[in-house]
Amino acid sequence: MTDSSASKASTQMTCSEVIERIYEFLDGELTPQVEEQIRAHLVVCKRCYPEFEHERVFLRFLEKRAQIEKAPPSLRKRIFQALLDEETARHDT
Ligand SMILES: [Zn+2]
Repeated sequence: MTDSSASKASTQMTCSEVIERIYEFLDGELTPQVEEQIRAHLVVCKRCYPEFEHERVFLRFLEKRAQIEKAPPSLRKRIFQALLDEETARHDT
């Protein structure tokens, strides 16, 4: 599981770091540098990008219903995970 190229990747984010910050990214709460790192990661990472897209759609949906302020990040994450599971199940069939 160790990444031998990690030493030169100090300015690059890992997938989990990107996913951790997706909400802040979408909310525009990050510094321009961090935003740029996430954007750069999403461009090259085929694993995170679908999650980002999914999350963006989901967030817009929540915003529309004015629930986003009420939902704590942990709850948002759980709802998001549920949606993601649904989506995955759909693709499996
Ligand atoms: Zn990634």
